[in-house]
Amino acid sequence: MRLQVAQPTPPASTQRRDALIDSHGRTMTDLRMSVTDRCNFRCVYCMEPDVKYLPKQSLLSLEEYVRLANIAHQLGVKKLRITGGEPTLYPDLDLLLEQVGEIGFDDIALTTNGTLLSDERCKRWKESGLNRITISLDTLDAKKKEAITRSFTPLDVVLRSVDMAKNAGLTPVKVNAVVMKGINDNEILSFAAFAQEFDIDMRFIEFMALDSGRAWSMESVVTAREMKQVIEREYELVREDDGPSSTSMNYRFANSTGRVGFIASVSESFCHGCNRLRILADGTVRPCLFSDDEWSVREVLRSGVSDDVVKQFLRDACFAKSAGHSMGQQDFLPPEKTMSTLGG
Ligand code: SAM
Ligand code: SF4
Repeated sequence: MRLQVAQPTPPASTQRRDALIDSHGRTMTDLRMSVTDRCNFRCVYCMEPDVKYLPKQSLLSLEEYVRLANIAHQLGVKKLRITGGEPTLYPDLDLLLEQVGEIGFDDIALTTNGTLLSDERCKRWKESGLNRITISLDTLDAKKKEAITRSFTPLDVVLRSVDMAKNAGLTPVKVNAVVMKGINDNEILSFAAFAQEFDIDMRFIEFMALDSGRAWSMESVVTAREMKQVIEREYELVREDDGPSSTSMNYRFANSTGRVGFIASVSESFCHGCNRLRILADGTVRPCLFSDDEWSVREVLRSGVSDDVVKQFLRDACFAKSAGHSMGQQDFLPPEKTMSTLGG
């Protein structure tokens, strides 16, 4: 039977080192922390209009998010990404960034739909220690944007957010587009031109089976290879060095500013080098996006135990991380939870 809710405790591992190592030898150094599952959009590839939110009382407090971030840092996590749902809806986001900014991560990033940014907020976040922002934008066509996001927020608002993030030095600004066949795959070249014009890192993401509408099928996926071929019809791309755990294959333009990257999560899974750990807004520890194995650390945090106990809980959960997903293969079953809950 498949799991629907987080289990109370992960299987005990023999791991005792101050690191998060799984049973396949991978070390988790990248924490994605969701601070809300709420959103002001209903993107067709992510959230259905009648999505059921987690009960408010199940969400962690600011102190609990910061405590977990601190503990994860002590366990060797170097990068922290704050995500959601839409993290800018989280009322304590400014305080959270201030407090995690003091922990000493090498890199702190935020993923947002870019609707609730302001120059002041971006500046404040930068001063708090936020390094960079990733903004989701799947179309440059104002009408299509309404259809994809199922919201009337004008396209200009998001474009202005890209500028605000750049002006505040939250760079490199990345713009994420989930490319879906027959919906926005005719805009790949426009996005390449956009990357040049705005001097940003444009990330083309393969559509993953994480949508609550269950519209995903292999036929709806445009592969990274196909996207790159489209761009190379017009532009010369130069391969860049990706880090060892990079999820994207990155390129710069031979003759201009801006970069493009392709996230081939479906066609060329990067599970073998995965260094990511996810903690959901309600304290669910989720070592793999595609495995329903997950454990709730919330009651552990609330039971008055020392940080050492929480550390061991996280070590055990990471140790049990599954080897990888089989998206695109016959035996593949989409996970119960969707991207808006899991935190992209
Ligand atoms: N609300 C914020 C946003 O949209 O940027 C942060 C959360 S969102 C879940 C994080 C990222 O997940 C976004 O860039 C979004 O495009 C991506 N995402 C959501 N559903 C996806 C899917 N089915 N396949 C691929 N990427 C997806
Ligand atoms: Fe909201 Fe982000 Fe999901 Fe769109 S992708 S519905 S903005 S959480």
